Amino acid sequence: AKEAGKGTYVMYGQAMQQHFDERMIIEKHLRNVISNNELSLHYQPLVDIASGEIWGFEALIRWYSPVLGFVSPLSFIKIAEDSRLIVPIGEWVLRSACRFIKTLQVQGLEGYHISVNISVVQLMLDNFTEMVMGVLQETGLSPEFLELEITESIFIESFEVIVNKLKALRQQGIGVALDDFGTGYSSLSYLQQLPITTLKIDKSFIDGIDSPHNMSLARSIMTIGHDMGLKVTAEGVETPEQLAFLQRTSCDKIQGYYISRPIPENEVAGWVADRKAG
Ligand code: C2E
Ligand code: CA
Ligand code: CA
Ligand code: CA
Repeated sequence: AKEAGKGTYVMYGQAMQQHFDERMIIEKHLRNVISNNELSLHYQPLVDIASGEIWGFEALIRWYSPVLGFVSPLSFIKIAEDSRLIVPIGEWVLRSACRFIKTLQVQGLEGYHISVNISVVQLMLDNFTEMVMGVLQETGLSPEFLELEITESIFIESFEVIVNKLKALRQQGIGVALDDFGTGYSSLSYLQQLPITTLKIDKSFIDGIDSPHNMSLARSIMTIGHDMGLKVTAEGVETPEQLAFLQRTSCDKIQGYYISRPIPENEVAGWVADRKAG
């Protein structure tokens, strides 16, 4: 038993070391992603359930490293946050996404919103509000077309500081969505203090709506959101059954493979044209 214990310890140690090395390698290669042009954005449509119209798109980062190949944001965002590389990367995402939506507008594809994921590390920056307003000015996009997606992780940081920044951005007309709702720490009383416009129900609740328990959870979340005067978006919608449920429960917007996978930038205009053509 002693030996097994020791063996387990060694294996655990090796796994830790491997994990650490992998993080170091990713961090090293993340440092030059912007200057090396290794980042791109895919855009996933969000559709208004009642009208069937495209409301806009969520910008999702993609990284192709010539050395590491495609690296999923699920593997590198946390490392980018811990190393603060998320600050320039997040600004790049915001600027690129705003510029893209503005380009669509200039091409006559007007009225689409853009949702951009914002890390709590960015929200903590003193000049975050100025940075966002600067990007809007520079790209010529009106604030009402921009929505920022934040997560419940803000509740473990300086809540008040962040709330004040979000309020200032809301006053400019920018939307704020609480992403992955239901998976984190927020209590309802905190939720009420947040200047948000939208709740995005996490995919895990949508996945399970064939079970009565999950269905009632998803329904409760929608009721809470609507009672608070918020719009509700469901993410990760994959099946017609899920869509039918969300229609019955008056969900406002949907996003998921059932509508479309995230689309490379140069294919978005074509996707919109195809959808309009039916
Ligand atoms: P998220 O914000 O919850 O984004 C939704 C994720 O679900 C995306 O994964 C999207 O491709 C995926 N998805 C959408 N519809 C479906 C569906 O119907 N089925 C399934 N199975 N998946 C679906 P992705 O692109 O790999 O991004 C993962 C996470 O990485 C995002 O989760 C977000 O937390 C983070 N992320 C992505 N881009 C950025 C960014 O620019 N900045 C920051 N801070 N985080 C980002
Ligand atoms: Ca998101
Ligand atoms: Ca989400
Ligand atoms: Ca999610």
